Amino acid sequence: MEDSVWQSVLGEIELNVSRASYATWFKNTVPLSTGANELVIGVPNIFAKQQLDVKYKDLIQEALKNSGNNDTKIEFKIHSIITKKRARSSKSIDMDSLAGAPAPSSTDSKSPSKTTKLGLNSKYSFKDFIVGSSNDLAYAACQAIAQSPGTKYNPLFIYGGVGLGKTHLIQAVGNGIIANDSSSRVVYISSEQFVNEFLDSIRYKKKGFSDKYRKADVLIIDDMQFIADKEKTQEEFFHTFNTLHQNNKQIIISSDKPPKSIPTLTERLRSRFEMGMIVDVQPPDFETRCAILEVKASNSGATLDRETVEYLATHVQTNIRELEGSLNQLLALCEMRGLQPDIKVASSLLSSARLRPKHITPKQVVERTARHFQIEIEEIVGPKRDKDIVVPRQIAMYLLRSELHLSFPKVARELGRKDHTTAIHSVEKIEKGMSFDQMIRQHVNEIKERLYA
Ligand code: ADP
Ligand code: MG
Repeated sequence: MEDSVWQSVLGEIELNVSRASYATWFKNTVPLSTGANELVIGVPNIFAKQQLDVKYKDLIQEALKNSGNNDTKIEFKIHSIITKKRARSSKSIDMDSLAGAPAPSSTDSKSPSKTTKLGLNSKYSFKDFIVGSSNDLAYAACQAIAQSPGTKYNPLFIYGGVGLGKTHLIQAVGNGIIANDSSSRVVYISSEQFVNEFLDSIRYKKKGFSDKYRKADVLIIDDMQFIADKEKTQEEFFHTFNTLHQNNKQIIISSDKPPKSIPTLTERLRSRFEMGMIVDVQPPDFETRCAILEVKASNSGATLDRETVEYLATHVQTNIRELEGSLNQLLALCEMRGLQPDIKVASSLLSSARLRPKHITPKQVVERTARHFQIEIEEIVGPKRDKDIVVPRQIAMYLLRSELHLSFPKVARELGRKDHTTAIHSVEKIEKGMSFDQMIRQHVNEIKERLYA
C-alpha cells in the first residue's frame, strides 16, 4: 500500500467534516508505515489520537473502503511531525511601548516574565486541555486560530458557564501564537480590567489606553459580560474592535452567554460579534470528567484508582474548576495526613463539603487568614511589606476573589489597598502558587477548611 492511500482518505474526509475539525484533527497527520493490510498514521498528540480513535475511526474506515482498502487495519501513533516553523529569535517584545501596560506590583519580588506582562499565563496550554464532545468545537476553532491568527474565525466568540475552560482555551491560543511567532503582540485582558483601565484613563487623563489595545496583533478579552452594562466602555471597545478587525488582527472574546442573550450589549457590538464564529463549551460528560481527573492527578504525581475517579466524576458534575478543586483538596488532604487517595477519603471529603454554609463575609475571610498566620488584622490591612505579612495578604485577596468572587477593586479595598492592580497581581501570584507551591496550597486549603467548618 502506498502513502497516497492516506492522501485519498484525507481527501474524502475533508469533504465530510467541518473545516475546523479537519484542520485540527487531520491536517497534521502523516502516514508512518504502510504494510499490506495495515496503515500506521502519525498524529501530533494524545488528543488527536483520542479523537481519531474514538470519533473518526468509522469515517476513516469508510473512506478506506471507498478507496478499495477494505480490510486495512488502522493505527494511530503519537509522532512529533515536522514542527511548525518557530521564530526562535530572542528579540524581546517591547510591550512597554504599548503605553499604559500595568506596572508589576511592587510587592512582587521577582520581575515577571514577558508573558505575564501580556496578561498571559503560560500554565494554560493546548497540551493540558482535555477534549471531549462538550468542547471539541471550541478547541478546534482555537487550534485553527493559533495556527493562523487573523485569517479565519474573526472574531471568535466562545461562551459557556463558569469553570468550563473558556479562559484556559483562549489563553492557550495566546500562548500558542507566541510559541509560533515570538514577535506577535498578544494582549489578554479580562473585560473587568478593561473597564477599570478605561475608567482610570478618563479619570486621571492617562494617555495610551487606546494604543495599548489598538496596536495588538491579537486581542483576547475574557468575560465580556462585565462590559455589557457599561455604555462608554462598550463604545471604546467598539472602536478598538473595528481598528483591529480592519487590519485583520485576531480578536477572541469569551462570555458566559452568546451575544444575542446579553441584553445590554449594544446592537452594533452584537452584530460585530456575530460576524465571526460563535462556539460554546458545555459541561463535560462523564468520560471527559474521568479523563480530566486522571490526567490532572497524574500531572500532580498521584494515581487514582478507577473507583475513586468515577466517584469524583459522578459527584462533581457541572464544572471543571470544581472537579479540579475537589481533586486538589483530596490530594492535599491525603498529603497532609499521609493517606492514600481512595474512595473512602474522597467520599468523606465531599460529604463535608456539601455541608458548607453559603454565606461567608469578606471580613471573615480576612480575619481567618490573619489568624491562620498569627498576625494582627491591623497588620494584614496595614502598610507593612514584610514577607510574613505580604504573603498572608495575598492569600486573603486570593480567597476573596476565588471564594466570594469580589471584584478586584473590592478585593483591594478589603485589604486596605487603593490600587486594584495590586489585587490582580496578588491573586495571580497565589493562583500560580496553588499549582506549583505545596506550602501555598496547604495554607489555602487549611484556611478554607476552617472557614467552612
Ligand atoms: P472558565 O474560564 O470557563 O470559567 P477556566 O478556563 O478558568 O474556566 O477553567 C477552570 C479550570 O478548569 C482551570 O484550571 C482549567 O485549567 C481547567 N479546565 C477547564 N477545562 C479543561 C479541560 N478541558 N481540560 C483540562 N483542564 C480544564
Ligand atoms: Mg474564565
